[in-house]
Amino acid sequence: MLQAVLAWPGCWAAPATGVHRLYQHPDKNKKWPALGLIMALLLGVSALADERTEVTLLLPWYHQFQFAGYYAAEKRGYYDAAGLDVTIVPSFVPGELPRNPIEEVVFGRAEFGVARTDLLIHHAQDLPVVVLANIFQRSPLIFVTLERYGFSRLEDIGDRPVALTLPTGQPGETISAETLATLRQAGIEPDSLNNDRSHWQLDDLIEGRTELIPGFTTDTPHILRQMGETPVVISPRDYGVDFYGGTLFTSEAVLREQSGLAEDFKAASLSGWRYAMASPESVTDYLLEHYPTRSEHHDRTFLLQEAAAMHDYIQPDLIEMGYINRQRWDQIATVHQDLGLITRYDLERFLYQPELPGTRLRDLIPLFGSLAVVLFLVLGLSSWLHAKNRRLQLEIARRREAEDSLRVQAEKDALTGLDNRHQFHHQIHTALAEARDQGLPLSLIMMDVDHFKAINDSHGHLLGDRVLRDIAHVASQEIRGSDHISRFGGEEFAIVLNNTPLQEARQIAERIMQACRQHRVHLDDGSLHYTVSIGIAELQPDDSTVEDLINRADRCLYQAKQGGRDQVRC
Ligand code: GH3
Ligand code: MG
Ligand code: MG
Repeated sequence: MLQAVLAWPGCWAAPATGVHRLYQHPDKNKKWPALGLIMALLLGVSALADERTEVTLLLPWYHQFQFAGYYAAEKRGYYDAAGLDVTIVPSFVPGELPRNPIEEVVFGRAEFGVARTDLLIHHAQDLPVVVLANIFQRSPLIFVTLERYGFSRLEDIGDRPVALTLPTGQPGETISAETLATLRQAGIEPDSLNNDRSHWQLDDLIEGRTELIPGFTTDTPHILRQMGETPVVISPRDYGVDFYGGTLFTSEAVLREQSGLAEDFKAASLSGWRYAMASPESVTDYLLEHYPTRSEHHDRTFLLQEAAAMHDYIQPDLIEMGYINRQRWDQIATVHQDLGLITRYDLERFLYQPELPGTRLRDLIPLFGSLAVVLFLVLGLSSWLHAKNRRLQLEIARRREAEDSLRVQAEKDALTGLDNRHQFHHQIHTALAEARDQGLPLSLIMMDVDHFKAINDSHGHLLGDRVLRDIAHVASQEIRGSDHISRFGGEEFAIVLNNTPLQEARQIAERIMQACRQHRVHLDDGSLHYTVSIGIAELQPDDSTVEDLINRADRCLYQAKQGGRDQVRC
């Protein structure tokens, strides 16, 4: 089945196009004295400007802010300055068959494309694709349902109709590794789902033909809100699935036949991205003028909110634009392997290795060698090297910091600051192993806010968010240093109580319940109170997995709800 995902015979033998032959990168002239180059520039050899290399960039979607960096590079003249004449082509053009960026690049009909981490699957099938830059440091893929369908966790899908890109065995289908990985983390067998891939439009979701569709956090919730709906977002990140997105790639043929082209295109594009993230308004205006967007929802407000939402995913202030972290790709590849989507991978070939800045030094030697002021240059050079080395050290420190920060984000829930569900799973697995090793008791509290939907409905989601933050704070005050509280999802919290028998856990739960009951959330015109329901379970000798413990606590929580809420059951 996987062979069917992309099986193009002989596609990597695609002939070089005229475009390729036209291109001549300045690196090829490196033996030619730089002086000559300077003179050529001074003489204004404008003919060079006319021989700009034509390249095509294939987008995996419609024109929108999601690809802002490329429009910005065009608008700002970065492509021009690099001698590139870039055509930016969307996958979907009215009246034309949709185009697949991977196919276009592999067949040589485009030099560059944008793809998701699924590119790895195609690489593993021997398609000669190479990653140039990771634009989205976090994937913006989400799953979206509507509040009126009454669920906010994958575990509660049951037999509701859903529309996910899961394997069906059809030839040529695309499979979302992110979706598969998330379902696996949620303990859901893809085959058990009532999945119909033909219903993934927003209309299908609104009219109930499906109750869960994939979307992009940067646009889908916004459009649904504009349509008067209340979207509920389920993120792969809540399940510890953390992939890259918006990956810029090329083919091995482009790298082999025009060594400087990819480097130049990448550098100009990344400059474009930096500009776009710093000046979203001006890029939005350019986009609206030159690349009309596709529907009435895609107006200026839409594009600007998309730009704002993208900040979190690109992290332009924290991470070098386009940064490729080999270790993260290694982890992503391992997830693909675990899912059976690939059997092997070769990051050496898959990830583009840029020339180290220091190695270009040799290019300067012929120029300097002919000059009389050698000593002066040597001195200058050594202080330059020193400065460069220092910059490198600073860069290493900055990247380390950025990595640390990413790690924190991968473990923490952004709204409450508590550990997220992924961390919870880590905690409870460790706690269970320790409890078994040392023969100590272990309890688990599951807590759910009562009638939280009504709080959202009458006071709005922002206030709902504040209540969740308050509850996280109130509950954290009542637990001990050895207890671990996390946001399990939506308005549900989980607390792992190490070395704690059921009775003691019950006392702590009663304390939390009491504290929540007494807490008041201050509003402009009064205050709001809320209650919580709690289920508790203690580890039993015949529990074989953590799921047994979680399920029992969940059942007790359900009984607390059935029993009238605002109570503890165990
Ligand atoms: P019950 O007492 O049976 O638990 O009722 P409930 O209304 O609390 O439960 P239900 O599962 O029907 O609704 C939970 C709601 O929580 C639905 C969803 O919109 C909301 N929710 C989930 N995550 C968030 C969030 O991050 N912020 C806000 N404001 N609401 C959220
Ligand atoms: Mg609730
Ligand atoms: Mg709930």
